[in-house]
Formats: sequence, structure tokens, C-alpha cells
Amino acid sequence: MVTAHPLHLPAPATASFAVLDPATGEAFDEAPGQQPDELDAVVRRAHEAWRGWRADPAARTTALLAAADAVEAAEADLAPLLTREQGKPLAESSMEIARTAARLRYFAELTGPRTEPLADGRPVRSEVRWRSLGPVAAIVPWNFPLQLASAKFAPALAAGNTMVLKPSPFTPLATRLLASVMSRALPEGVLTIVTGHEPLGARLAAHPGIRHVTFTGSTATGRAVAQGAVPSLARVTLELGGNDAAVLLDDVEVERIAERLFWAAFRNCGQVCMAVKRVYAPARLYSRVVEALAQQARTVVVGAGTDPDTRLGPINNAAQLARVENITERALADGARAVAGGHRLDRPGYFFAPTILADVPHHSPVVTEEQFGPVLPVLPYTNLDAALDAANGTRFGLGGSVWGTDIDRAEEVAGRLECGTAWVNHHAELSLAQPFAGIKQSGVGVAGGPWGLYGNLRPFVVHRPEEA
Ligand code: NAD
Repeated sequence: MVTAHPLHLPAPATASFAVLDPATGEAFDEAPGQQPDELDAVVRRAHEAWRGWRADPAARTTALLAAADAVEAAEADLAPLLTREQGKPLAESSMEIARTAARLRYFAELTGPRTEPLADGRPVRSEVRWRSLGPVAAIVPWNFPLQLASAKFAPALAAGNTMVLKPSPFTPLATRLLASVMSRALPEGVLTIVTGHEPLGARLAAHPGIRHVTFTGSTATGRAVAQGAVPSLARVTLELGGNDAAVLLDDVEVERIAERLFWAAFRNCGQVCMAVKRVYAPARLYSRVVEALAQQARTVVVGAGTDPDTRLGPINNAAQLARVENITERALADGARAVAGGHRLDRPGYFFAPTILADVPHHSPVVTEEQFGPVLPVLPYTNLDAALDAANGTRFGLGGSVWGTDIDRAEEVAGRLECGTAWVNHHAELSLAQPFAGIKQSGVGVAGGPWGLYGNLRPFVVHRPEEA
């Protein structure tokens, strides 16, 4: 068992709160409940640590690579803990840990001197020296606790900033263990985890010592976080909700893509910001598409993430289960048909049957809003332009995909989606090197690749005469 490094855990919390296992609905451990007034000391320490951390890019690279090694070495401790508090199958927890280590390595190797000469034709020598910002606050949700935390700390620390990170109170434990494992490689105060219920996140986002607030979560909370940062005028990056559409073209091979399309919607029990959340199918193929997806839904093994046979775990928490149940019942009341599932499972824990909905009215919230669970509406279309208007017609704009046999045509259609990332014949596959930016109410700012690094830097320009 990995033991916590005392230096990197904030001062002893005055309270603690229970952490539940979503496969049983019962508490299995507890986490420290930090009080908002403890943040002053935590942010001050992050500020002090920044002085040393920003000064030596080579030392940062070495430290972040060592942290990646430490994360990988702790996989056997991290994966079961992540599964226990989040609910996902163990194999997916292991994948999340591998991606966390890979992201650390990617950004570690993007560090180094970043100075760019400016050639603007004037007789001066001027250059941009990219500089770090200072302490960054990160707030992340419960669906990919480690992967999303690393999407915050890897670029921010590589850029020379320090970070105070708050995980969701539903999933605090694996993040605390991750940070304690990484603390063997990082100087004290560079990465601090704070855990607790609201208003901890709100106070962190609004803290005057924070220079950049980077948030992943729902659109409603993102708006509150941005408002909270108004007095300090800290930089704000928001990665928010999505309602991604998959548009199937008339030459799609239904049975060939059904399994891939199913998993694009149901991975992590549908709790993925850029999961497929609506399918538009040509009317001619509609019943085949519905049946092929329903067949997947009826046969997938649902169970506790700790069971090696499980492909689909529980929903993470009771509130989210209630949301998924309500949005499904509303769709059924609006006239939809549950071709598979449509109800909770009669067992302890937060399980919902994988659900395929047909004949859903376009105005039903399961189409217009984000369900964020194992429920997928399939909608028929007769006119592709109208289907694209519907796909583009929500307040979200995270991702989208187009599926067909003629890949060039599918790519042309994908170019008409209004979102940050569009895929052909798959969905939600991201590379570390690509920019990730939702439009409309799906996000503000850019994460991923060099753009994610620059989102954590500021340009500092120095001018001097050409000649002495
Ligand atoms: P959430 O918005 O409820 O919570 C996210 C985080 O904010 C948690 O740590 C929570 O404790 C904290 N928080 C809650 N109220 C706050 C406040 N007033 N001020 C500051 N922080 C506060 O989201 P969730 O239910 O944990 O996660 C699901 C949502 O996250 C979905 O909408 C999903 O689409 C979105 N998401 C987006 C991305 C992306 O990259 N675009 C990735 C994953 C999840």
C-alpha cells in the first residue's frame, strides 16, 4: 500500500465526510472536509512554491517525468480505489491511470525555454518570453477524476505554475492518493489537493491569490465559477457539458458500426462529456439502427466495477441516478418507447438499465439537454440538412460525429457540425496533442496540446534598440 507523503497534504482538516461506493450505495471510507478559511494558507504556500518551481524548466521536466513513473508504479493501489469510489470497471480505471501518466510525460516534454523573436520591421529587437501565471485553481468532476485532474495539473505545472486542485466530493480518495504518490517527485506546495463540500470550490475559484481558474464540470456550475472569478479577474478556462450528436448517413453499414456507436454513447455508463448523446438515423434504416443498438444494450454485462466480467458499472451517485431516471420518465411521458431498459435495476447501488429510446419527440429534454447517463435517444430523419440543423440546434457545442461508408462524403458532412471536435466513424477519441475546445455553452478557452500549455502562460514582451 502506498503511504501518503505528509508534506503535500494540507493542514489537518477539521471535519471529514463519507465517501460512498456507487455499487452498493454504502459508505466505505471518509475524506477530510477542508473548510474554506483554510484556503488562505494553502494558496499562500502555492505562491511560495511558485518562486522555485517557475525558475528551472529542466528541473520541472525531470520532476514531472519522475511523477509519471510514480503514478504508473502505483497503478495496483490507485485502480481499485478509483473503481470503488467512481464505479467504473477496473480495466477502465487502469486505463485512466495510464492516461494520467502519459499526459504528465507529454507536457513534461513540452517544457523548456519559450522565447520568440518578433520581426515587425522596426529598428528594435523585441521578443516574447512566455511566463507562468502563478497559483492556478482547478476544480474537476467525478466522471474521470484522475484523467481530468491530470488535464489540469500536467499543462499548468509544466508551464511553471503551481496548483490547488479540488476533486468532486464524490471522488476525493483516488485523487488524494495520486497526489501523495506524485509528491515524492514534486517540491512541497507545487500541487495541493483540497477536499470538501461547497462552498469550498466557490471560495477557491474566487480566491484573490489565484491567477487562473480552470474548471471542468456542468455548464451551470461553470457559470457560477466564472462569476466567482470576476472580482479577482483571474483567467478562466471552462470545459463544460455537451450534447454530442452522431449523424448516420444513408450508406452506413448499420451492423458493422453498432457496437462502436454503442460504446461511444455508453462508455463510463454514459458519463462522458463528449459521449454520443443523440443519434440521427436515416428513416430508411431507422428500425435497424434502433434494434442493433438495443441488442447491444440488452446483452452488455452490468455490475460492480470490481467484477472482472463487468463492462458497464453503476451511475456514480444518487443525484445523478435521479436525474437520469427523471429525464427518461419524461421522455416516456412525451411518447418515447424504451426499446431496451428504461428503468432502474432492482438491486442495491445506483444501477440503471442501459436504455435505447425510440420515437422521442425532438423537444423532450433527453434530446435537448445532457442526460449524462446510460440512456440514448435515436431520432429518424428524412432530410440531411434538417438533421444537421437539429444536431447543431442545442446550446452545446462540444463534439459530434458522422458515420458512413463514403468517408470523404462523411468528412464533408462532419465539417458542417458546429462544435469543437468532429469525428468520422468514431467518437470521443482524443490525442494528447490536439486542442480541445467546446463552443457555445460547452466551454471557454482551449485545453490540450501546445494550446493547453499556452493557456497556462502569459506573453511578456521585451523591447530594446537593435544597436547598443
Ligand atoms: P458539477 O458542475 O456539479 O461539479 C463539478 C465540480 O465543481 C465538482 O468538483 C463540484 O464539487 C464543484 N462545484 C460544485 N458547485 C460549485 C460552485 N458553486 N463553485 C465551484 N465549484 C463547485 O459537475 P459534475 O456533476 O461533477 O460533472 C458532470 C458534468 O461535467 C457534466 O455536465 C459533464 O458534461 C461535465 N464534464 C465536462 C467535461 C469537458 O471536458 N467538457 C469533462 C467531463 C465532465
